Amino acid sequence: MCLHQKLACACKRNKAYLFHRDNILPERVVINLYCPECGSRVDRDESTMLEDVGWLIEYDIEIARLYLNLKGIDKPVTPEFIFDEGYCSWYGMSPKDLEENAQVHQELKALQKKDRLLYFNELKRIRLAQFAELKKEGWRKAQNI
Ligand SMILES: [Zn+2]
Repeated sequence: MCLHQKLACACKRNKAYLFHRDNILPERVVINLYCPECGSRVDRDESTMLEDVGWLIEYDIEIARLYLNLKGIDKPVTPEFIFDEGYCSWYGMSPKDLEENAQVHQELKALQKKDRLLYFNELKRIRLAQFAELKKEGWRKAQNI
């Protein structure tokens, strides 16, 4: 079971889907979430924050260290480590990837009933195009695909 949550950013104008790998870190490991609009007014603190295309996730590093230590993980705990190892990062490739993916599935629903092979090919084509776009935009999780 992996925990996931939908969080509003500090200015409440945007929401992000976050994914917690293996349910190790609790929801409160995220102290603040800033979208590109509210994040531009925040002082960056690289010891607690991860920045991704204008979005900022502020982690409670002490909480993260505590819970990861309990699982026997004794690597240096940094925002990059938490994010890159998937202990608390976007659900998918970006804050809205889950939503966009669901929308694609919705759009292809009729096709899925009609022609499954065509449906899978179309799904793959759209997802690959999305990944290429995300990579171009600079999303951290899309850089290695
Ligand atoms: Zn915001």
